[in-house]
Amino acid sequence: MGIERLRDNVDGPGIRTLVLFDSCPLHCEYCINKMMLKSGIKKDFSVEELYDILRIDDPYYEISDGGVTFGGGEPALQSRFIEDFYNLTEGRMSIILETSLSIPLEHVQKLAPIVDRFYVDVKDMNPEIYCDYTHEYNYFLITNLEWLARNGYATKVIARVPLIPEFNTEEDQAKSVKKLKEMGFEVETFKYVQTHKPLEPIMLMGVPELPDYPDDLMGDLKPEEDIIHTGDEREEEM
Ligand code: SF4
Repeated sequence: MGIERLRDNVDGPGIRTLVLFDSCPLHCEYCINKMMLKSGIKKDFSVEELYDILRIDDPYYEISDGGVTFGGGEPALQSRFIEDFYNLTEGRMSIILETSLSIPLEHVQKLAPIVDRFYVDVKDMNPEIYCDYTHEYNYFLITNLEWLARNGYATKVIARVPLIPEFNTEEDQAKSVKKLKEMGFEVETFKYVQTHKPLEPIMLMGVPELPDYPDDLMGDLKPEEDIIHTGDEREEEM
């Protein structure tokens, strides 16, 4: 959905390029990306095309220990793309993810070894508050956090816990922070500032039946035949 260069200590340490992916499994009431996500305004890139844009700023990444931050939408849905990007760069470019972790574990297992840091947008650890605010259940979030903690990746995680007007209280926020710290994660807190009137509520999508996840949760881990290879398509069109 967008590429923003030369962001200085905003989306992680150093000078970084922020790459925004489309699609998100959640429907947060105060989502600032809602219009963008619904608009369909986006551009397809192959891994090589994206790398050609990002590497222009290699000298800045090097002097500042920066790199690329993938945000969204939900970038972790594109775990195969990110893994291909990592392999293309042979791990030389620092990768950070801004994610809700509300995605199947398979994506996290693919990403954990290659990502330097996960900024996890936790919302709230209380399942009812989470569901009220996102219109989804927090099963994936909890499963993924537990897996990251159990498998030695806790130090790669910074959990972000907002105070969400009309949805949680300072007491709820403190309970979430306590749980996350007990799991071994570093935690940041902040308060949402409402800058616009919430848009119309989005229809509840329901709980996915496991283990057959709906296609929109499989991202680019869908079976090969379902994946659109934009690079191939372009070659055919030429
Ligand atoms: S997780 Fe982020 S992008 Fe997705 S609906 Fe919530 S605020 Fe919007």
